[in-house]
Amino acid sequence: MAAKYKSYSIGNIHNIPGINVLEDSMIEDIKLVAEIYPFKTNNYVLENLIDWDNFVNDPIFRLNFPAREMLTNEDFEQLRLGRERMSVDEYQQLINDIRVGLNPHPAGQSSFNIPFDNGVKLEGIQHKYKTTVLFFPSHNQTCHAYCTFCFRWPQFVSGLNMKIQAKETEPLINYLKANKCITDVLITGGDPMVMNSRILESYIDTLLEVDSIETIRIGTKSLSFWPHKFVDEEDADKLLAVLKKVVDAGKHLAIMAHFNHGVELSSSLVATAILNLKKIGAEIRTQGPLLKSINNSSNVWADMWKKQVQLGCVPYYMFLPRDTGAQHYFAETLPNALKIYREAIQQVSGLARTARGPVMSVVTGKVEVLDIKNDVYYLRYLQHRSPEETYKIFLGKSKVEAPTWFSDLEYINEEDAHLFI
Ligand SMILES: *Cc1c(COP(=O)(O)O)cnc(C)c1O
Ligand code: SF4
Repeated sequence: MAAKYKSYSIGNIHNIPGINVLEDSMIEDIKLVAEIYPFKTNNYVLENLIDWDNFVNDPIFRLNFPAREMLTNEDFEQLRLGRERMSVDEYQQLINDIRVGLNPHPAGQSSFNIPFDNGVKLEGIQHKYKTTVLFFPSHNQTCHAYCTFCFRWPQFVSGLNMKIQAKETEPLINYLKANKCITDVLITGGDPMVMNSRILESYIDTLLEVDSIETIRIGTKSLSFWPHKFVDEEDADKLLAVLKKVVDAGKHLAIMAHFNHGVELSSSLVATAILNLKKIGAEIRTQGPLLKSINNSSNVWADMWKKQVQLGCVPYYMFLPRDTGAQHYFAETLPNALKIYREAIQQVSGLARTARGPVMSVVTGKVEVLDIKNDVYYLRYLQHRSPEETYKIFLGKSKVEAPTWFSDLEYINEEDAHLFI
């Protein structure tokens, strides 16, 4: 029988089977925090990934259900009082003000990365690194469930008017044809794997018209949140056939799969989903951020990477949570992050050491922390807006007691000053 997707958000949170194990006050907290951050879950996540007997410490519960601590005490109290006392308009304004204060567009993504074509701004496209363009189709500005730590959270809330999305493909195609150095298109969102096969096909067919494109990447968390997509959903076979067109056209199909914990790789359904993707010639690379209260342990990462390699996936990036939203709640310090990365890498076979990290996506590029010795940070841009800066090692020192982000670091040598902008 075809799998049926059942979605839950704040409106029907009380219909979640088993939700009554949560105390009422906890549900009230979730509702309040969800005024700021989006909340959504589904039957697969609820039934297969969360251990309801121990939900308080469960990594996937924390990954999916907003926690009170994601807001500062001040914002939380303001909201709580505001909900009781303010008019609808005032309350909406308060929500908006809090959201704007949470740096909804980190790493300059709304100002620096949007390309122009003959003076016209290309909406829904980001071009930061020479070879790779990000494409945000308007059809997939949602996900099968939402992550509490998502750095794209403004994509899913209304009223901010900060969504990145493209309503048509023609400007993208013209841009790709005019910039032949672009070899990779990364379809992202949201989760492109919420699209049905018919809509996805129109995007894939259009992209395959561009000869200079060598790789189509698809950024997705559906292997974790809804693996039925590639196995037993009504549209599954058709979807796989559409994806296979990329491989049949002689191009590389790269599934950039988002995982945060080994639990997500443990069901037989996800193993079948991975196998089905590999059968059509896709390569699956995995990435995800290091998060307090969810996966801040080297054993969790080592276990996850081992499972990925066993299932035929290639570990790719360990990110650090970006400077937006509830970063204050999820971010480990840089020394802790490096320790977790290294102790995880030390446990695994060379085949899992393709995972690079810890990595920060910042305005200038992707910064890897290579080492920290005597308070000197050894850093490297894995990607830089200017290709000539890529892969050079440079040094930094911390400006604060417990650095969690690149902006907490500064240069040691004057000649590296431009790398810290
Ligand atoms: C991470 C990222 C990419 C892809 O970088 P790779 O190192 O090639 O995986 C492309 N564009 C943006 C804006 C990114 O943040
Ligand atoms: S699946 Fe990805 S885009 Fe969607 S909420 Fe999670 S991190 Fe954000």
